Amino acid sequence: MAESMPDLYALLEVRPDASAEELKKAYRALARRYHPDANPDAPEAEARFKEISYAYEVLSDPERRARYDQFGTDQANPMGAGFDGAGFGDIFEAFFGAMGGRPGGGRRGPQPGPDAELRLEVSLLDAAFGAERDLEVTLATACADCGGSGAAEGTTPEPCGDCGGTGELRRVRQSLLGQMVTSSPCPRCGGYGELIATPCGTCRGDGRKVVSKTLTVEIPAGIDTGSTLRLAGRGPAGPRGGPAGNLYVHLMVAPDPRFVREGDDLHTEAHCSVAQAALGTMVEVETLDGAIAVAVQPGTQNGTVTRCKGEGVTHLRGRGRGDLFVHVVVDTPTELSERETELLRELAELRDEPLGVEPTTGGLFSRLRSAFS
Ligand code: ZN
Repeated sequence: MAESMPDLYALLEVRPDASAEELKKAYRALARRYHPDANPDAPEAEARFKEISYAYEVLSDPERRARYDQFGTDQANPMGAGFDGAGFGDIFEAFFGAMGGRPGGGRRGPQPGPDAELRLEVSLLDAAFGAERDLEVTLATACADCGGSGAAEGTTPEPCGDCGGTGELRRVRQSLLGQMVTSSPCPRCGGYGELIATPCGTCRGDGRKVVSKTLTVEIPAGIDTGSTLRLAGRGPAGPRGGPAGNLYVHLMVAPDPRFVREGDDLHTEAHCSVAQAALGTMVEVETLDGAIAVAVQPGTQNGTVTRCKGEGVTHLRGRGRGDLFVHVVVDTPTELSERETELLRELAELRDEPLGVEPTTGGLFSRLRSAFS
């Protein structure tokens, strides 16, 4: 079973008892010498580079090194192919750093992309009635040059020999409780089940590129600050053709100076004069749908609330809308003309209302301070 396995220590030019640090040093030196970038159009150098990279891949993993030391092979799956087509993708990742998270948990095949989230501010009007908004997003997207496979044009990823394309290694061992089967992600293909011999030059085998694009988002009527939209499958793409994750859009409703929102109800103020409050009038009130006229009944007190049914925000679930509450503010007149002062004094006299802010000595209010000074 070990007949096709080369001497990995010899490949790295180290002794069989070399430390992890020595292995790393030897690998780095050799990899620099034989890297394809440094040896264009040199197939022998590329072959050597693959060999030393594979040797390092095995020997730098304590478990695989122990297996190799004991059995002369690191193949856990005896049916697996040996040496050809070593994980070129892994080599590049070792050099350039993996772009995405490695799949874990023994799952096979393309891994989904991560979820992403962003914030979007909308107007009260959009929140009340719903809207369509364009969002500029920068997201990992399937590489256009390789269609997301990560394999260079004209090539396709090949099934991993170590795991037979399943992406996981199953181990059977005998224990006191009987036969135990454990499985773990295949270290050679990283759980993908496939190896990329020639990575796509654009995405370096990852299958993704980060691009800016415009997403059209449907904002449902009735949302409020704190509402989150879940755009399934519109998040970052997964590595090597994996499905996209979800995009979560956290909504914030911008304050509207005309209204205070309370659930689906709105509150607003309507101002009128003392005379209007006393004698009754119509005031103009802004609503989400435009201005309406609201009656201020004769004798209305400051702070009186009038309810306009159905002039609030659309209910998020179900039909109908909240209400608009109009709070009447009675404005006390200031900067009075002589004639106006005269009329108000006359009114006060008629109604027997004392005037003047000087305290009267010994009277009822002698211990009060002016509340307005
Ligand atoms: Zn690509």
